[in-house]
Amino acid sequence: MYAGHVALATLAKARRPRISIALLVPVAFAPDWIEWVLNGFGNENRMWSHSLVSVAIGSCVVALLYWAATRQPGDAVVVAITYLSHWGADFITGIKPTWPGGPWVGLMLYDHAVGDVIVECGLIVLCWLAYRRSLPAVSRGRAIALLVPLGLIAMQIGFAAIQNPTLG
Ligand SMILES: [Zn+2]
Repeated sequence: MYAGHVALATLAKARRPRISIALLVPVAFAPDWIEWVLNGFGNENRMWSHSLVSVAIGSCVVALLYWAATRQPGDAVVVAITYLSHWGADFITGIKPTWPGGPWVGLMLYDHAVGDVIVECGLIVLCWLAYRRSLPAVSRGRAIALLVPLGLIAMQIGFAAIQNPTLG
């Protein structure tokens, strides 16, 4: 999942407007970043980035850091849930490790490129509507605000087309 992670970050932002979106987006992508960094060091074991164990530890670490910096326990919990949402979202589209020696699970929607686009775009629209509702009325009508979900949807279709040339 790609754009869906951004959508989940905006949903967290809608629920907890105090938390910076500049923090929520990287947190929503954290397992992918860990994976890229580890790949850079030649470690391709996704257990370190995408297993249930690693996201449980990672989400606790970011929540503790956030709480230490802000003393807002409710917001810290939402930061942790944003991190955990990465696993849930990836579960729908791909296949993910659980724990060392445990099974790999997932719905592997990437095999169905159109289904993947529909799920991710649906997620983007739903999260965007929730986010928009959290904005003050004056900024809701701005055309620029619509560019964000449209850009995410374009990005998602672009990714799908790269992964599955028959779609593009
Ligand atoms: Zn991922």
